[in-house]
Amino acid sequence: MKKNSDILGEASGNNQFRLHLGFHYARHNRTRIQSRDGYARFTERYPTLSKPIENNLYVVPKFDSLVDFDTYRLIMFSSGIHFQELRSNEWPSYLKDVDGVLKVDEHVLLIEKAREHFKQKLAGKIRLNTKVECAEQQGNAALVNGEKFDFVIDATWGHLSDIDYDCFYEPTLLLYYRYKGKGEYPAITMVDGPLCSIYPTEKEGIYTLSSVKHTPLGKYDTSAEAKQRLRDFTDSDLKIKIAEMEAHVKSFVPDFCEHFEFDSPQFNIKTKLLGEHDDRSCYVKTDDRMISVFSGKIDTIFFAAQKVCDYLERYVHGEITPQEMAKNKQGHV
Ligand SMILES: Cc1cc2nc3c(=O)[nH]c(=O)nc-3n(C[C@H](O)[C@H](O)[C@H](O)COP(=O)(O)OP(=O)(O)OC[C@H]3O[C@@H](n4cnc5c(N)ncnc54)[C@H](O)[C@@H]3O)c2cc1C
Repeated sequence: MKKNSDILGEASGNNQFRLHLGFHYARHNRTRIQSRDGYARFTERYPTLSKPIENNLYVVPKFDSLVDFDTYRLIMFSSGIHFQELRSNEWPSYLKDVDGVLKVDEHVLLIEKAREHFKQKLAGKIRLNTKVECAEQQGNAALVNGEKFDFVIDATWGHLSDIDYDCFYEPTLLLYYRYKGKGEYPAITMVDGPLCSIYPTEKEGIYTLSSVKHTPLGKYDTSAEAKQRLRDFTDSDLKIKIAEMEAHVKSFVPDFCEHFEFDSPQFNIKTKLLGEHDDRSCYVKTDDRMISVFSGKIDTIFFAAQKVCDYLERYVHGEITPQEMAKNKQGHV
């Protein structure tokens, strides 16, 4: 059941469309490893739903990164993530104060194609325009809006009911820009810390600008408060945000505005785990017939699917012991 009229209508269809490989997460091992493995599985299983980016650069700036370039490179190397290190004479000349640059194989997700693909796959199996008001276990069944099912998998990213994690809701603003030049502009991601990135979308000449500092529009304890923040956002707020995000990116790419013009905003909500280490990995919690998926990045769909299928298989074969059932309620896998 899905409250929207189409699939991939919330965060999964409104994000930066980066098929992560782990380079964004120097401070979190579990996230890096899930992305590294998820990338391999995604490109193998859905070869037509993402495409490579010719020039995809991760840039460690000299003064603003939380780690120096050698440390950053060592972390990626020891995580088994492939990259090519650029020599200083290969660094783009328009970048300011660079400590080092890695060229990487990350892809961009083709979200329109993905929408069509999964719509066909799910035809007849998904109920659109159906908001779940209540999901609970009752005896040997799971009830959703009063209707009986075998199990419930809550994959609403905490929007159905408050979730059992130390997390918060972050309304977000990404900006779409039109590239004024010919050909392709590189994907440029500054790491590590509250920095920014320019990333292509599936549409030719359209890029997203994201800033870890300015993309968040607040930090809220509930989904309802985060949604209200988006409703309250005004045109003059948008003008201020555009100025802030452009100033941020110009501190690394000074001629950004000569190459790009603003196109449109993209609003959404992230559900994030607390912690400066940036844990963006996926967790699955089970409580008898109720299963809850705390999504990581899009590449973690395989991790989530495997955890859920393993649990269901063991459940139907009576292999979940009462002790394990109690443990799963408290912990997560
Ligand atoms: C600004 C931004 C940039 C991001 N960039 C990237 C990136 O580049 N790469 C990446 O891998 N990830 C990125 N992410 C993270 C990624 O978008 C999420 O990890 C992923 O989309 C979460 O998917 P999900 O299915 O759990 O949540 P969502 O896509 O938010 O889906 C939740 C679903 O629950 C449904 N729902 C909610 N409440 C109810 C209800 N009561 N009844 C019925 N249905 C309900 C909604 O209709 C929706 O279909 C980004 C996120 C944001 C916000």
